[in-house]
Amino acid sequence: MIPVSRPFLPPLEDYNNLINKLWDSKWLTNNGHYAQDLERKLKDYLTVPSLHFVSSGTLALQLSLRTLNISNEVITTPFSFVATTTSILWENCTPIFVDINPQTLCIDANKIEEAISDKTEAILATHVYGIPCDVEKIEQIAKKYDLRVIYDAAHAFGVRYKGKSLLNYGDISTLSFHATKLYHTVEGGGIVNNLGEEVNRDIQMLRNFGFENGILQQLGINAKNSEFHAAMGLCNLKYIDYIIEERKNITKIYDSYLGELIQKPVIPNDVEYNYSYYPIIFESEEILLEIQKCLEQISIESRRYFNPSLNTLPYLNEKIQCQYSEDISKRILCLPLYNGLDSDVVEKIAHTILERIK
Ligand SMILES: *Cc1c(COP(=O)(O)O)cnc(C)c1O
Repeated sequence: MIPVSRPFLPPLEDYNNLINKLWDSKWLTNNGHYAQDLERKLKDYLTVPSLHFVSSGTLALQLSLRTLNISNEVITTPFSFVATTTSILWENCTPIFVDINPQTLCIDANKIEEAISDKTEAILATHVYGIPCDVEKIEQIAKKYDLRVIYDAAHAFGVRYKGKSLLNYGDISTLSFHATKLYHTVEGGGIVNNLGEEVNRDIQMLRNFGFENGILQQLGINAKNSEFHAAMGLCNLKYIDYIIEERKNITKIYDSYLGELIQKPVIPNDVEYNYSYYPIIFESEEILLEIQKCLEQISIESRRYFNPSLNTLPYLNEKIQCQYSEDISKRILCLPLYNGLDSDVVEKIAHTILERIK
């Protein structure tokens, strides 16, 4: 079976070299040497003011809402992974869904203002597939209404916009380093804080039970990550340029067959993209299902990412309609894209799709 994604693995020797040292030091977690080293290296690579390594992208989102004291309505996107919404609910806040721009599939910034009430405290939007939200417009709205901005940048590792890291936009950006992501630490996440030292301190306490210098200062949780995860991150970071380059090449092969004939999300100008996913949009759900079945018959997995639209989740109290998101989530399919994916397989996938849509 060709999977839809497969984790990049560094040479085992690289990883073993780092792990061997843990047998000597016996320091396995709690802000160890590797975790600190990884934070420094990621901060430099991503050119961001701070980076906190945590146990998952989901905890990164939850800690971000906590540290900004968000406790009421949060304007958010219905087109994302479920964790974007669950983090809002888990923090006892109310998600207010605003429909997406049908081109970029990110939240439609032009529809945000009409969703703002006197209970709105923040905007939590996803740079979906690594495509930047309309960050300028969102910043303008946030200033006008005094709202906090958190970006779920789980897909946006390495993406640059107008010459700087996309993670520099907003008050906080969160990353996921899960094994299925472009860059991974097996499990893990990151918080990029653009608000300065006080918030950094807070994040450090929150992820470590509320401790600071051995004293319990506030209500925290365990969102630390281990030396084993950090070691994987250090190994993988050495290959990140190669990882992105190879994915770019695979994307180009797909594009050469499908580019003109199939609808894809639109990447705006001034973006240095990371080639994290290869989503395509079909004319109808029926065609999607038919093609997914044809691919399955030749042992190729594809993924309905994202489906369903998050405004339709069964555990929401209030239903808010989002026409574009509900429609597109039924018609969008992600094709296999990972390091080591053979160009012959890409060709076969493209032909299988072309046969059905022509
Ligand atoms: C993967 C993902 C998350 C969750 O990250 P985990 O590390 O798996 O907790 C959150 N948001 C988006 C958009 C994601 O793709």
